[in-house]
Amino acid sequence: MTTQEAAAELDRNDPLAAARKWFLVPPGTVYLDGNSLGALSAGVPERIRRVVAEQWGEHLIGGWSEDGWWDAPLRVGDRIGRLLGAAPGQTVAGDSTSVQLFNSLVAAARLRPGRDVLLMDAAGFPTDRYLAASVARLLGLELREAPMPEFADALADCGERLAVATASAVDFRTGELWDLAGLTEATHRAGGVVVWDVSHAVGAVPLAVDRDGIDFAVGCGYKFLSGGPGAPAFGYAARRHHDHLDQPLTGWNGHADPFAMTPDYRPAEGIGRYRIGTPAVLSLLALDAALDVFDGIDLRRLRAKSLSLSRFFIACVDEHLAGRGFELVTPREDERRGSQLTLGHPEAGRLMAAMIERGFTGDVRPPDLLRFGLNGLYLSHAEILATVHALRSLT
Ligand SMILES: *Cc1c(COP(=O)(O)O)cnc(C)c1O
Repeated sequence: MTTQEAAAELDRNDPLAAARKWFLVPPGTVYLDGNSLGALSAGVPERIRRVVAEQWGEHLIGGWSEDGWWDAPLRVGDRIGRLLGAAPGQTVAGDSTSVQLFNSLVAAARLRPGRDVLLMDAAGFPTDRYLAASVARLLGLELREAPMPEFADALADCGERLAVATASAVDFRTGELWDLAGLTEATHRAGGVVVWDVSHAVGAVPLAVDRDGIDFAVGCGYKFLSGGPGAPAFGYAARRHHDHLDQPLTGWNGHADPFAMTPDYRPAEGIGRYRIGTPAVLSLLALDAALDVFDGIDLRRLRAKSLSLSRFFIACVDEHLAGRGFELVTPREDERRGSQLTLGHPEAGRLMAAMIERGFTGDVRPPDLLRFGLNGLYLSHAEILATVHALRSLT
């Protein structure tokens, strides 16, 4: 049933309905692009104003200690770590996903000297693919790629040669969620180290990096974490690797004694060595403020809401968009969906432009995919129904 009454009933029973007011979504906008740039958390503007006026303005350089700027990458890292299912002391926030990925891929490969294959996800996000290719060239590895449905077989095919496998937890085009635990185990069985990009999962899909034995994970701060445009990314490295971590980006923030200003690099103990250079403090503290939203949130409940939205979306597509040229690209099985819905349509570009004009913000991925990010913190079932009605009116 996909009537307005059905949507209203689902929304009445939504335990996360109150979270909507924690975000400043402009009136008249149905925001379906939170998988690309999360909406602004209500607490962020005031926090940033205070950081600028009171911390920077009044404490000046003293802010590094007085206001905890120096420790912020590890403190914010631990807050993200909780969303990853990581115990404290294994996650650092900073730089971009691209930088974190480069750093992790090289560090991962250096854990497997003598092995020479880097296996990557054939449908990976462009920057991930470009970086994997560059790392392979830099380290003299053979780059192989495999579609995700064949990834486990491809891992086994590498035999003794597999050094590193890297893939995205959720396909950025289709919204398909992969089996992180199973593929991590398959990587280990083949003797390799895994680097997961969880950009489209963190803050929407409960993860269990420690429990699943994941070696490395990287991801974005500006998607479901809503940290703001270009928000710092993060890198997780499992504790068992810390003593052997040989990261390529040996910046002074990762030094054991950075203020000794010694001529030679000596890495800090623990995850501290995963720091690179001076953090972008304003952005980092905007992300920190945005993460407050997650403090009171049970991620399993958020996941249930997201699945309820996507299930309802699929039912609406089936009932209201049949025969109008749409193809459901995202899997129908709950456990195979991340937190977005993707529809194929030959006129995707025209449709999305018209949708945006009507206040429904999603996006398009070439050549023909319409993407709708489903953030359970600020979207309702009524908005999903309205979205589908708008799509129907345009076709
Ligand atoms: C969004 C996204 C990125 C973006 O990387 P940046 O360095 O922030 O530009 C990288 N990888 C994946 C899988 C993404 O979804």
